[in-house]
Amino acid sequence: MSPLDPVSLPASGSAAARPPPTPLKPLDQALAELLVLAAPLAHSECVSTFDADGRVLAQDLRSGLDVPAHDNSSMDGYAVRCSDWQGADTRLQVSQRIAAGSSGQLLAPVSIARIFTGAPMPPGADAVVMQEDCEAVDGGVFIRVQPRPGQWIRRHGEDVASGAVVLHSGERLSPASLGLAASIGFAQLQVARRVRVALLSTGDELAMPGEVAPADMLPGAIYNSNRFFLKALLQRLGCTVSDLGIVPDRLDATVQAFSGASGHHDLILTSGGVSVGEEDHVKPAVQTLGELKLWQIAIKPGKPFACGKIGAAHFIGLPGNPVSSFVTFVLLVRPFILRLQGAVDVAPQAIPVRADFAWAKADKRREFLRARLNPAGGLDLFDNQSSGVLTSAVWADGLVDNPAGQTIARGDTVRFLPFSALLS
Ligand code: AMP
Ligand code: MG
Repeated sequence: MSPLDPVSLPASGSAAARPPPTPLKPLDQALAELLVLAAPLAHSECVSTFDADGRVLAQDLRSGLDVPAHDNSSMDGYAVRCSDWQGADTRLQVSQRIAAGSSGQLLAPVSIARIFTGAPMPPGADAVVMQEDCEAVDGGVFIRVQPRPGQWIRRHGEDVASGAVVLHSGERLSPASLGLAASIGFAQLQVARRVRVALLSTGDELAMPGEVAPADMLPGAIYNSNRFFLKALLQRLGCTVSDLGIVPDRLDATVQAFSGASGHHDLILTSGGVSVGEEDHVKPAVQTLGELKLWQIAIKPGKPFACGKIGAAHFIGLPGNPVSSFVTFVLLVRPFILRLQGAVDVAPQAIPVRADFAWAKADKRREFLRARLNPAGGLDLFDNQSSGVLTSAVWADGLVDNPAGQTIARGDTVRFLPFSALLS
């Protein structure tokens, strides 16, 4: 683990006493440093395979059997020995009937077996003829199309070979992985335990929907939107969330909230209060109780970002502007939480997509633009990319990852991070 570098405090709000601006940190460097701090949690737990979607596997799953266990038919039809077929008017007798779940006998000479999808091939047969290519008549069946050895047979072990590791420790389980685990007989899985997160919002301007009606909002008040999407994002990552509500913009209240949360959470996550304003009490509160790193990350939106430790708990402070909070969560907090669970692949995969828009304003920071896939297979851009406009993140299908100093011309290929890779 790299040592945390404490940040010195400005003297009571005086602009002259402020430390010089921190140099901007590239996103990749910030992520690498953050992941070094994310030592995987020590304990894992055993859960039903039914309940393991989205969890991170804490064991290798080795198969004790071939899947399929036997060669079997992939069609409803007839199992044949190809050498018995002498032409389209060869009439063969049906010597046995094999349904899925039963097993056949050695195929009698110059005969065929009625067989159904998934039923094991009878010994002696080397192909299946689909029933559409056959004509059943009294006392037999004509096979109208010449059978080829091996056709319509699923081979034993073609999905999973006995002894193979089909899922590895550190893989995040998807619905398909649960099916695969079940196909080799696992009813229970050892997975990383859930990350316990304390979520706090800072800001005296915040009001809660449901508590204050729109007509009763005081001048300057805004609804707390970050609390809702951050809680949902954490829950999608399988976290157990303690929603500790809104902390007033006071140092003593912030210190009290953090010290209360640090004992029984793996991570304290806040939004707001990490910029350089006099009402930003998150940084001094973390410094009072533990260690703080404050980064100015070279991305737009989402520049200020704080992390550190309070006792045994990790601390992450996100910017207050909703889109900045959202973007820094998906780019930094999500990989951090996945790594705490021991996940190996934590970085989302960008895909190349054609820009059907132009972006003439190159920024000195790497930008994450809210964009949407159009039916022509290109990307459209939301027209207001301000860090306060949450509508952009709802409208979009993902983020265009635009390098610093780069403009985009219509038709350029850009790197696109689909929300499907960021929000689960
Ligand atoms: P701050 O980082 O605290 O200076 O906040 C930056 C901006 O984000 C301000 O306009 C805040 O009002 C706004 N903001 C902070 N927290 C939230 C929140 N939980 N929901 C919506 N907006 C917020
Ligand atoms: Mg604030």
